[in-house]
Amino acid sequence: MRIADSVHVLPIPRDSQGAAGFLNLSLILDDDNGNTLVDAGLPGQAEAIGAALAEAAIEVRELRRIIFTHQDLDHVGSGAVLVRQSGATVLAHPADAPHIEGRQRPLKPSPEMLEQRPQMREVLERLEPVGVDEYLEDGDRLDLAGGIVVIFTPGHTPGHLSLYLERPKVLVAGDALTAEGGHLNGPNPSMTLDMRPAMQSIRRLAELDVETIVCYHGGVVGEEANGQLRRVVQELSRQK
Ligand SMILES: [Zn+2]
Repeated sequence: MRIADSVHVLPIPRDSQGAAGFLNLSLILDDDNGNTLVDAGLPGQAEAIGAALAEAAIEVRELRRIIFTHQDLDHVGSGAVLVRQSGATVLAHPADAPHIEGRQRPLKPSPEMLEQRPQMREVLERLEPVGVDEYLEDGDRLDLAGGIVVIFTPGHTPGHLSLYLERPKVLVAGDALTAEGGHLNGPNPSMTLDMRPAMQSIRRLAELDVETIVCYHGGVVGEEANGQLRRVVQELSRQK
């Protein structure tokens, strides 16, 4: 799905039937500086991601870089395969990089999460580490697609980051926010390691001028994006 000149959202079904919903990867096109994939699905989804790229008229080998918003297995999952197929450079925040690279265990699923969702164990066993080539830090600006600002948004994980595309005013929020049918929500509390910084991160995102928000879980929010961000901040502060 094309949401701006240079930005596609690639919905990848979580399972073969699509019954468990979709993961929403972002593809940022740049003819001069190369194409960028944001997040890489679950283990075993490289083929589905390749098909989604083809729909956006891109081949896997035309990926120049992969940015991970964070370390979770549904974001890093097929990264290693895609890197082997494309030679893409991998970028992530230094706080999550050791977990992505397998130098430290993934922080999730926690033992409690595994108890609630035992099916995650099998997925975790299939997770392949991915080498991180470059670190991204808060305020970094990538000269891609008119400019992308890196925003450090910890909480869901210690090294979570979001991306703000200045020209189309698109916010790629990763798991800092979720959505349902165009309605913006806060992060999933049961999957968020530390809600306090997570809320602080959303306050920072609410300072941006945003036209479209892409939530990895829940997809695109295109109506009243700024207003919805402010509403989520208010709702979360009230819950506290
Ligand atoms: Zn996720």
